[in-house]
Amino acid sequence: MHQPTTTITNIHKTAEEQVRNDLQIIRHKKLLSELSTWGIGGPCNYFVQLSNLTQLISAVRYCNEHSIRFIIVGKGSNCLFDDHGFDGCVILNQIRFLERVQPGVYRVGSGYAFNRLGVQCCNEGYSGLEFAAGIPGTVGGAAYMNAGANGQETADVIDSVEIVTVDGRLKTLNREELSFGYRKSPFQEMEDLAAVTAVTFRLIPSVSAKERQQTMLAKRKMSQPLAQRSAGSVFRNPLGFSAGDLIEKAGLKGFRVGGAKVSEIHANFFISSGNCTSRDMRELINLVKEKVNVKFGIQLKEEIRYVDACNSINCNIYDIP
Ligand SMILES: Cc1cc2nc3c(=O)[nH]c(=O)nc-3n(C[C@H](O)[C@H](O)[C@H](O)COP(=O)(O)OP(=O)(O)OC[C@H]3O[C@@H](n4cnc5c(N)ncnc54)[C@H](O)[C@@H]3O)c2cc1C
Repeated sequence: MHQPTTTITNIHKTAEEQVRNDLQIIRHKKLLSELSTWGIGGPCNYFVQLSNLTQLISAVRYCNEHSIRFIIVGKGSNCLFDDHGFDGCVILNQIRFLERVQPGVYRVGSGYAFNRLGVQCCNEGYSGLEFAAGIPGTVGGAAYMNAGANGQETADVIDSVEIVTVDGRLKTLNREELSFGYRKSPFQEMEDLAAVTAVTFRLIPSVSAKERQQTMLAKRKMSQPLAQRSAGSVFRNPLGFSAGDLIEKAGLKGFRVGGAKVSEIHANFFISSGNCTSRDMRELINLVKEKVNVKFGIQLKEEIRYVDACNSINCNIYDIP
């Protein structure tokens, strides 16, 4: 998340929308709950939805010129937004092109659905993104999180990543310049990053890719609560352990705080139901951490990203409707 030196503290409640370079900047109306798979989150001060690079650069410049902090959101499938919303601009990324550069090499817009890409590549006979079929995020979110499953991860097949910096410059970073880890990418620490705009993947031919993908999807359907609202695994797996197993062995399946609940099907998936708040979910996460630590002496670490409403205790958040 880019945080300029000043945050918005003065909210102009009269200006509901502004238009700039065919971008509609919506004030105070957009609820983050609509942008998150958990369905949690209050209103953001500014909201903009974009579908190409020019619009993205305009949005970033607009935020910079007005000292508005901003965050890029894909499908919101790994974010816990705040009940108080976001004191800044939420940029919804819908840059969705797909280019077949050469056989097995795909250059893809960062707003493209990662699961769709995974299915397409396997259907075309290429291996490396079988796992992506079950991940309901965007290509940008997958690169940022280094999403993975079943022994595969996004970084394995990245050839290069195109980004826009906070001062609106474009850069292409080759895989050798990027150091990834388990659910870790260099983008999470990159101070001058505004957004990942495109990713080029290099895959290898395989006649069995499709079959492998179907096996992975079938396993997922059996073991994950896909019909309920979640953000996938809440915690990273500690080295040598499965976070889900630890939570289950601590007797926490079905454990609940308000509208937040540990799934009965997969203990590392936390389900939101009814009018679940971010406070319920945070409390559940903290209690589960505490109980697992007491029982096993293992400190779980979140895989999900917290998006705080503001970066100062004095910030002025638009009222929850
Ligand atoms: C049912 C379910 C199953 C899941 N299974 C898996 C799984 O098997 N493996 C796995 O790893 N994850 C899994 N997830 C979690 C999630 O889908 C992935 O982490 C996904 O990659 C997040 O993508 P997103 O577009 O939703 O990112 P968001 O949730 O929108 O954002 C996540 C973070 O990435 C940043 N970000 C997003 N897009 C960009 C961009 N273009 N440029 C810069 N930063 C960006 C955001 O600012 C935020 O910090 C699952 C989630 C669900 C709901």
